[in-house]
Amino acid sequence: MKLDIAQAKEQFGKLLEEQLKRVEAMNANKEDLDFASLRPIIIGIAGGDGIGPAITAQGKRVMEALLADWVAEGKVEFRDIDGLTIENRVAANQAIPDDVLDQLKQCHVILKGPTTTPRKGDPWPNIESANVKMRKELDLFANVRPVRVPEQGIDWTFFRENTEGAYTLGSKGFSVGDDLNIDFTVVTQEGTERIIRAAFEYARKNGKTRVTAVTKANIIKTTDGKFLEVFYEIAKEYPNIKADDWYIDIMTAKLIDENRRKEFQVMVLPNLYGDIITDEAAEFQGGVGTAGSSNIGHKYAMFEAIHGSAPRMVAEGRAQYADPCSIMRAVVLLLSHIGAQEAANKLEKALDICTLTERKVVTTGRPDGATNAQLTDYIIETIQQL
Ligand code: NAD
Repeated sequence: MKLDIAQAKEQFGKLLEEQLKRVEAMNANKEDLDFASLRPIIIGIAGGDGIGPAITAQGKRVMEALLADWVAEGKVEFRDIDGLTIENRVAANQAIPDDVLDQLKQCHVILKGPTTTPRKGDPWPNIESANVKMRKELDLFANVRPVRVPEQGIDWTFFRENTEGAYTLGSKGFSVGDDLNIDFTVVTQEGTERIIRAAFEYARKNGKTRVTAVTKANIIKTTDGKFLEVFYEIAKEYPNIKADDWYIDIMTAKLIDENRRKEFQVMVLPNLYGDIITDEAAEFQGGVGTAGSSNIGHKYAMFEAIHGSAPRMVAEGRAQYADPCSIMRAVVLLLSHIGAQEAANKLEKALDICTLTERKVVTTGRPDGATNAQLTDYIIETIQQL
């Protein structure tokens, strides 16, 4: 958007007003759902696009096996949400059609398959990403990604702020005349408090002894500076957890320092740094099957694989050979989130056996390997023997 200076001032005023409204909405909704007393916990299964329906169906099978008692007792209910497809989104010309959004909002947690985001050259119009829309609509402020490489002593959990920073106004920057171009970074008190508290609470509940903030507060003083200030304020409430901070440049380097990197445990970062460093970290773990991801808010939470919809696999008729392990790792996170910790531990153990140590059934993405249903049979049998 190209503006003159008077228009730019007016536009900036509008952005500030919008952001203050967002702050009001955040302040009005700070309560976490209490899964221990919630009946039933509604788990939505949204297959998404491409290989999504094939792999989420396997995730559902595993949950049905692990949560059979909870289903029988009326503690859990599964709901299939079929409409989160690129065809429906294009037909409605919406990032998520209204009726599908309503269905998603009737669930407490969602297992989501990857969704296709149109890019140049695709046969689809340029609609907004369903993921970005879901994050905003369900206020999923924490993107949590565990990275574990036991043989290298790596056991990290990243808490990436998901709704602010450099991304919240990513498409709302403007140019003033021909020479000046401005983007905006936003950090709010509540937006920062909630992600930092989530990181410390996770550390406390999981016996972690260190939480590290990653910023560039020495240069980006107002927003990163605020993030760091809030970090150390909240750290005072957790005297048994060591709190420290690193700058993003040196942290990026230290993650490849074999001696240093073992020391990190829980890391909390503003949106942009989190985006970059979680991809770097996932590389150590190796491969798209090895990690799941969760997007957590006070009211809703969404769990997904870290890979995309693999349209070529579907075009070549290979969806049934797609590796379901990333979505299975997401199921581990979902189970833990709703308080089914024993089920989460069992699935994690079975996945380690089936995909890292024993590996009796292996997918290759092609007909020379197992189908995702066959690998899932093996995972369920392994769970039953634990
Ligand atoms: P992609 O992850 O879909 O594919 C990258 C490569 O990995 C391909 O060769 C693919 O065949 C392979 N692959 C991915 N998942 C696999 C699996 N489970 N088993 C075996 N092989 C697998 O990435 P892309 O091609 O960049 O993106 C395709 C579409 O997915 C795009 O529209 C993109 O926007 C979308 N996407 C969605 C999400 C999400 O919903 N969270 C994330 C990333 C990409």
